[in-house]
Amino acid sequence: MSDYLVRAAANPTVRRVIDTVGLPTPQTLARAEPPYQARFLEGQRVLAGATAASAAFDRVSAALETTGARVERADTPSPADDDRYDALVFDATGLGGAADLRALYDFFHPVARKLTPNARVVVLASLPEAMASVAGASAARAVEGFVRSLAKEIGKLGSTANMLYVEPGAEDRIVEPLRFFLSDYSTYVDGQPLTVTRAGIMPERVPDTQPLADKVALVTGGARGIGAATAERLAAEGATVVCLDIPQDSDTLEETVARFGGTALALDITADDAPRRIADFFTERFGGVDIVVHNAGVTRDKTLANMPEHHWDMVVAINLQAILAVDELLSAEGVINDHGRVTCLCSIGGIAGNRGQTNYGATKAGLIGFVERRGQTERDRGICVNAVAPGFIETRMTAEMPFGVREAGRRLSSLSQGGEPRDVAEAITFLSTPGAGGISGNVLRVCGQSLIGA
Ligand code: NAD
Repeated sequence: MSDYLVRAAANPTVRRVIDTVGLPTPQTLARAEPPYQARFLEGQRVLAGATAASAAFDRVSAALETTGARVERADTPSPADDDRYDALVFDATGLGGAADLRALYDFFHPVARKLTPNARVVVLASLPEAMASVAGASAARAVEGFVRSLAKEIGKLGSTANMLYVEPGAEDRIVEPLRFFLSDYSTYVDGQPLTVTRAGIMPERVPDTQPLADKVALVTGGARGIGAATAERLAAEGATVVCLDIPQDSDTLEETVARFGGTALALDITADDAPRRIADFFTERFGGVDIVVHNAGVTRDKTLANMPEHHWDMVVAINLQAILAVDELLSAEGVINDHGRVTCLCSIGGIAGNRGQTNYGATKAGLIGFVERRGQTERDRGICVNAVAPGFIETRMTAEMPFGVREAGRRLSSLSQGGEPRDVAEAITFLSTPGAGGISGNVLRVCGQSLIGA
């Protein structure tokens, strides 16, 4: 399950031929490999700038220092011909009105052609809702249009542009989100905002390495695909991981958990007693759970006119009802520990809708409603609830698509290729870390800035 065009384009001669016939030539994306390094930009060149009245630049500098990068500061750069940058960071939290947007042009225009392949661009803006003036709110929101557009211009070489909305007072919570966007952990996240707020509590300590040591995680649908990749990645960061999947898939489940020393829990998530059994399992074995990844999900595609009612009922039961039922009991009985992290697998189909997926689209949009509300309910205990919305990911599910649909899914994105399960796993792992404690109620797309579902 891999992309033939990415493999072919890695050869320079073939790449030239592909270019000549006018096909997209996807860049081989940089992906983080174990051992996972805290100083992931060691020796690389980063240019950082800020608007005049920026609020977060101290924290930007502190975050950059931890990456090992060679950092230069210029608010209006004038690079030499052969200058190249591995990352650009601009703190635009000081924008007060439309005229101030010129600062974005002044910083990015001179260096827009000077990025290395797989470069990272990150822009910080104030949270529009928190701005005192209409003009300030408008300018802050303008940054998103800028970032999404820039991402579409630089994606050809695997480079990404993302942004952080920062609530005033939440500046000390940006370090880990900024590191995520600057790293190859976010390689398939492109053109996306994350919102960092000051609500609720943060853990006292954010470890530099093995941030999930001492954490207990549940991954539903963990036998294969995105769930298995996520379970493995959480375990690599030190978590004790329990993978849940249907009893009919017990053999695959056992093989998967054996790869990283996890525990198998064979259970159909839609069973009436599933919430009770999960709550009891974690309470009795571990005294609670820290990380819950609601990943189990299915598609049963048909246009609405052709859809049998059991397809509707099955998709709603697995993708939405089961998640709400499990979460309700875990929450009511306090099974999710303080500083817990809950992440739902949504889909770009739940954001934009997809032909033949009224059932699936409804459930994934329902999950967005769930995380937006639930993300605010236990902030006083430091619990964060978010969703990731994958685009086209190379799994069994997408391998079964007809050729034309599969090619459209792969190519119609800024990065001209599908993502891998591990790309989604990276985003979930980041959201599960202590340093992501300022992020709750967000839906993060992991879709290479897919045009389908835009
Ligand atoms: P997959 O089919 O490879 O794996 C899903 C797993 O969920 C399977 O192991 C399956 O047995 C399990 N499962 C299904 N019903 C279950 C039940 N009732 N109880 C327990 N386990 C159950 O799918 P995937 O591609 O890895 O997708 C994982 C999640 O990501 C799903 O929620 C899916 O909707 C979402 N997603 C995937 C893509 C993609 O491109 N692959 C895109 C968007 C969203």
